[in-house]
Amino acid sequence: METARPASLASSETVRVTNSGGSSPFVLTCDHASNFLPPEFGTLGLAAEELSRHIAWDPGALPVARRMAEALDATLVETRISRLVIDCNRSLDAPDLISAISETTAIPGNAGLSEKQRAARIALSWQPFHDAVASIIDKRLARGVETRLVSVHSFTPVYKGKSRPWHIGIIHDEDRRLASPLIAALKRLAGINVGINEPYSPADRVYFTLERHARSRGLACAMIEIRNDEISDEAGQRKWADLLTGIFSDLEPSSGSQGSGRRGLGHPVEPVN
Ligand SMILES: [Zn+2]
Repeated sequence: METARPASLASSETVRVTNSGGSSPFVLTCDHASNFLPPEFGTLGLAAEELSRHIAWDPGALPVARRMAEALDATLVETRISRLVIDCNRSLDAPDLISAISETTAIPGNAGLSEKQRAARIALSWQPFHDAVASIIDKRLARGVETRLVSVHSFTPVYKGKSRPWHIGIIHDEDRRLASPLIAALKRLAGINVGINEPYSPADRVYFTLERHARSRGLACAMIEIRNDEISDEAGQRKWADLLTGIFSDLEPSSGSQGSGRRGLGHPVEPVN
């Protein structure tokens, strides 16, 4: 049966890898990069304006991730299909893998799916994305290349009527090797409100990609969430990408003597602070 395959995007094209041979220890993912719906899904029953909202993707996250990848010479793995079809940053048994309601919006095209329809969506987007991330990491580790995984997301300034004060959030679990120096560097900057496990935490199931590919292999990792009004235009995207690139450059073990935030990430768990 070919019904699962959209006319315009073969399943081999639903994930994009940029700079697969990147020299940076950081591998970036952008799990919610696109709001593209393959034609076979129509609009999933939504009004067109709903498809540009954050429920369909992480606005601004991809341009930031791309600019960081280029500046750091890092590999970037991005999804190319909307999270409304299937959320690649969720486990296959998560209740919001394919959401019938996102925030307060019902998604008619996601209601009452058959097992076959769910399997087709997994094969279309989820599996290729995770296969790509796994393949890149395994090849790097086989070559002995130091690897840390960072996922780049954006969040909506107002969620269910509540304003969110943070400009950026760093999400982490008990392994803080990467998150602690990242948070410390951000807190040294004036005028930036840093959310620590805000607006989400691993308990919200948002840490899936990092758990599956980094934590399972003992690799340092962290999740970045940037408030999307900060990165709604090119100037904002450039500002945050350059700021984060500077911080990550300082965290690289080979960054030289000028890296004030530089430290080894070889120990499994840092003291709680
Ligand atoms: Zn996201």
